[in-house]
Amino acid sequence: MNSIFNLTLEELISVLESNGFKKYNATQVFEGIYKKRVSDFDDISNISKELKSFLSSNYSLDYLSVIDALKNENTNKYLLNIGTESIECVLMKHDYATSLCISTQVGCNMSCAFCESGRLKKVRDLSVSEIVLQVLTIEKLENIRIQNIVIMGIGEPFDNYDNLVKALDILTCPKGIEIGSRHITVSTCGIVPKIYEFADLKTQVNLAISLHAPNDMLRSKLMPINKAYKISEVMEALDYYIEKTNRRVTIEYIMLDGVNDTKECAYELISLLKGKLMYVNLIPYNSTSHSEFKRCSKEKINNFYQILSSNGIGVGVRREMGKNIKGACGQLRASHKENHEN
Ligand code: SAH
Repeated sequence: MNSIFNLTLEELISVLESNGFKKYNATQVFEGIYKKRVSDFDDISNISKELKSFLSSNYSLDYLSVIDALKNENTNKYLLNIGTESIECVLMKHDYATSLCISTQVGCNMSCAFCESGRLKKVRDLSVSEIVLQVLTIEKLENIRIQNIVIMGIGEPFDNYDNLVKALDILTCPKGIEIGSRHITVSTCGIVPKIYEFADLKTQVNLAISLHAPNDMLRSKLMPINKAYKISEVMEALDYYIEKTNRRVTIEYIMLDGVNDTKECAYELISLLKGKLMYVNLIPYNSTSHSEFKRCSKEKINNFYQILSSNGIGVGVRREMGKNIKGACGQLRASHKENHEN
């Protein structure tokens, strides 16, 4: 049965209208399932018997089930069941807010050399409801409201673009979950045509780009997507995005020991970003058992940080939260698959 969580408000309006119901019924249903979080359509008290019965015979209200959870003092990582597959999401509790990192695909086809998710190829895209239900399921399980969402879990969001955009519509809908667009960040490896499309949406959702290298030679070695879209093309697309939205872009840069952490790299990065509305997030590498890469020392990260900062580049170092619970992209799912397959 189709999940009700696949439908944007617009889509629900058109389904209901074409079945003889009223436009305002869609708002009542949205408020019932997203504000009151009913687990049965019968519990939406302000709609007719006919509508209740139409909804229950055509749509499911099921949440996802939790297969596994790993917890430390401020981070929980969950493995959630979706039919024959599983997906990951990570809850991070800060003093001021909670953030949830969610996935958009089962596996990933981008094959970044340092990333655990890329080792397990993409099995399929997540549906709209599977993206949205990560949020609803964790909120219910932990009895919390999530303030921030980062779309940085497994998968390449812009490789599942249409479902991503609908899921964002549902997550931010004022009649529904109503998470502020500015509290959501989408991270992409740099699929250029989709950056233009995303810019044209003119949403307030934040955009982050996994750059990880300041020149094409190095970036192509780390990220095969760079063979399709060169750094200069990504930069042009980001200029367009900034012009359209006036939003600051985050540049993600994983610090890989002896690979992209040199002074030369720092200066190349400066000339690439200088004067642009961009902020660099240096990410300490979470080493994985299968990886040839090593984590940089704190000193190296600091030196790199200092060079950028003293040259007028906005920069920060990402706080690490999930290191001891397989928090890096794809690690929990990968370790589960291996345990089951061996
Ligand atoms: N496909 C998207 C989003 C998923 S990855 C993207 O490429 O942005 C989210 C972020 O985690 C990316 O910046 C990715 O490069 C980074 N990442 C992957 N493996 C990592 C690891 N082992 N340690 C630290 N960051 C990692």
